[in-house]
Amino acid sequence: MSEESLIEEKEKKLEDIRKEAEEKACLVQRALYYVEEFLAGPMCGRCYPCSLGTYEARIRLIRISQHLENVNESDIKALKRIGSKMMEGSFCKKGKDTGKFIIETLTSSEEEINQHLSGICPKKECINLIEYVINPELCIMCGKCLETCKYDAIIGEKREPYLSGYLPFEIRQKRCTRCGECIKVCPAEAIEVITTKIEELVSSK
Ligand code: SF4
Ligand code: SF4
Ligand code: SF4
Repeated sequence: MSEESLIEEKEKKLEDIRKEAEEKACLVQRALYYVEEFLAGPMCGRCYPCSLGTYEARIRLIRISQHLENVNESDIKALKRIGSKMMEGSFCKKGKDTGKFIIETLTSSEEEINQHLSGICPKKECINLIEYVINPELCIMCGKCLETCKYDAIIGEKREPYLSGYLPFEIRQKRCTRCGECIKVCPAEAIEVITTKIEELVSSK
């Protein structure tokens, strides 16, 4: 088998990328996953509308997913423009299909796009727009989350029946990578994912 065919065999197929992207609930994460996987694999760089378009689309999608400074409607317009240029000018079906996927994804929910432009990810998948927090009313102080967290992001002391004072469990946001492992082990459903912006609004009331 030639080197080229070996590379082709190792590369992810566009339809597999699409299936994996569609597992994401958040439309920004869906488009970003597709574009990043396309760039890492099937995109060959032989024509500009596809290669430059995909590269710029990735930058715009990252801006939206992280709610970076001055992110606004112009980022959405640019993504739609990129998508249609890719559909028109790409040399092959892979570029055209990617352009189509970008447009279809971004137009699937105007409400969800507007929420992202205000810094809220309603599906709680954009990790820069969410926080993991422990509800002290539900926490039974078992310590399982602390044992599981690889990033040393949780503080607290296990409740011991013969001791009265203890440190409540809490997640240090600066250390938390939003990996989600603590939620899986919590027996009391005491760990919640909140959207940062909503939290700010609630606490300012
Ligand atoms: S459209 Fe096809 S030929 Fe052009 S860069 Fe994309 S994958 Fe390569
Ligand atoms: S989400 Fe991950 S990093 Fe954050 S506290 Fe839970 S286990 Fe630790
Ligand atoms: S795993 Fe859940 S109940 Fe146990 S200490 Fe952590 S947050 Fe509290």
